[in-house]
Amino acid sequence: MQFRDLHRQYEAMKAEMDEAMLNVVASGAYIMGPQVDELEQQLADYVGAKHCISCANGTDALRLALMALGLGSGDAVFVPDFTFFATAEAVASLGIRPVFVDVDSDTYNMDVTDLDRKWQQTCAAGHAPAAVIAVDLFGRPADYDRLADFCNKKRVPLIEDGAQGFGGSIGGRRACSFGHIGTTSFFPAKPLGCYGDGGALFTDDDYIADMLRSLRVHGKGRDKYDNVRLGLNSRLDTLQAAVLQVKLRHFDSELQAVNRVAAKYNQLLQGKVQLPKIPDGVVSSWAQYTIQVEKRDEMQARLKAAGIPSMVYYPRTMSRQTAFSHLGQHPCPVADALSHTVLSLPMHPYMTDEEIEFVASSIC
Ligand SMILES: *Cc1c(COP(=O)(O)O)cnc(C)c1O
Repeated sequence: MQFRDLHRQYEAMKAEMDEAMLNVVASGAYIMGPQVDELEQQLADYVGAKHCISCANGTDALRLALMALGLGSGDAVFVPDFTFFATAEAVASLGIRPVFVDVDSDTYNMDVTDLDRKWQQTCAAGHAPAAVIAVDLFGRPADYDRLADFCNKKRVPLIEDGAQGFGGSIGGRRACSFGHIGTTSFFPAKPLGCYGDGGALFTDDDYIADMLRSLRVHGKGRDKYDNVRLGLNSRLDTLQAAVLQVKLRHFDSELQAVNRVAAKYNQLLQGKVQLPKIPDGVVSSWAQYTIQVEKRDEMQARLKAAGIPSMVYYPRTMSRQTAFSHLGQHPCPVADALSHTVLSLPMHPYMTDEEIEFVASSIC
């Protein structure tokens, strides 16, 4: 059994995919070919944002967002303590101070009450709060009602790290549209993945969109050889854009399929382990199906013996990472506890009922 079966996905769209990829190879337009523009329009329409700017990966997308906002050393940016390293790394790599905020034990997402606490502590320590990055962990959109309210009151931009959230929604409004800037990743195992690295940013702000289009090509002005600022080399390959165009056509049915898998897991595991909680009106893109268990090592060993892969996302919180030990920030208790109990089970749109039943029976 595969944790996320990308081979089955390829088999399901092989003819279309092979044609799309070979077209790019034959065209010779490997960088910024027409598929890149087309895809950006399709993604902007899908998300419901005015602009989509593609880039090389989800980490660069976060860096580009912070650069477009003009943030740098002297600024402090709030990130969840429980996330993939890239969220905090993107911040620190620009000389910005990451401030780790605890998460909610049910949603796994940023806890706005702790955000308020960390904000006050940051100000008291003489650092300047400049933005908040919320993460849609495991596919569930963060608490954007409260986050947007908080950021509006404090007059700082909200960035949505939707690397795992693409496809999710709250009340019909799609992930990657909630912040001033939304970012995502097309790493193969993400909800919408390509066949290599890729990423994108979303915004309604014309100025930020122009800035991002400049920053992703060496801070270009009129053209690539007129450089008006320092940027990155961070474009999405035409080949990856073509792959994503094919996958986007199948994305809604895949989203339905992962929600069916999650519902079946919920039904079979109800009362046996702590299940992921998704309230009415919220749709998860199920980047991961993550349960909480007390004796995790034992359970993982039992699953492994049955031939079932499982993963721990994440075994170490940001405040406990060696790379951030110099910041001297206190660990966040909820994130800390989660790092000892979370376990992610196989989850992808092509799982059969028999496979879901086999995983569930191996757990109970
Ligand atoms: C994967 C991921 C990223 C980084 O995306 P890459 O494309 O791998 O650079 C950033 N944030 C989160 C939450 C992620 O899961």
